Amino acid sequence: MARPVQYNIYGQTDVKLVQEGPEGYGGEGFFTTKLDQVVGLARKNSIWPLPFATSCCGIEFMATMGAHYDLARFGAERVGFSPRQCDLLMVMGTIAKKMGPVVKQVYLQMAEPRWVLAMGACASSGGIFDTYSVLQGIDQIIPVDVYIPGCPPRPEAVLDGFMKVQELVGKESLRRRNSEKYKALMESYGIQ
Ligand code: SF4
Repeated sequence: MARPVQYNIYGQTDVKLVQEGPEGYGGEGFFTTKLDQVVGLARKNSIWPLPFATSCCGIEFMATMGAHYDLARFGAERVGFSPRQCDLLMVMGTIAKKMGPVVKQVYLQMAEPRWVLAMGACASSGGIFDTYSVLQGIDQIIPVDVYIPGCPPRPEAVLDGFMKVQELVGKESLRRRNSEKYKALMESYGIQ
C-alpha cells in the first residue's frame, strides 16, 4: 500500500505541511517573530542523532532509518558516531553496569545543547534484565529527555519518541542551559 507523501511547501492547499512556521506577525514583505522560536525551528528540524545501540533495539532503529519509515523526513538523516558533532544521544538496548561509564563519557563529549532519548524497556528501566550486572535505566547516570516504551518499540514508536524530542527542542528557551535549575540537574549527576 502506498504511503501518503508529505511535502514541506508553504502556501499550497493540496499538500499537507510537515512543519509549521513559528508564531509571529507578518505583512507584505515582512515577518517578525522571536529569536527563540526561529532557533528552535532550525534546531528541531536538523537534529543529528548519535545511535548508541547495544542490542536488539538497535535493529529496530535500523528499520526506522530505512526507506519505509525514513527518519530522514524529520531532518535527522545525518546519523553520526562522533559525539562532538551530534546533539541527540539515542541509547538503545541493554546497558550493562560496565558500559555505564562509557555511555556517560559519550554524553560528556557532546556539546550543549544536547538531548537524550532512551529507547526501549532496557535503556529506560533495565527491562527484563533485573540482574546484578545490568543498569536499571540510563537515567541513573545521565539525564533523559524522552523515554520510548516497548520491547522492542516498533519504528512508529521510535518516530513518535523522536517527534517528542523535536517538540522539546523547538520549545526550549535559549536561556535554559544557563539556568540554575539546569545547573542543579547536571550537578545531581556529578556533571559540572
Ligand atoms: S527492550 Fe527488548 S528489544 Fe530492546 S534491547 Fe531490551 S530486550 Fe532487546
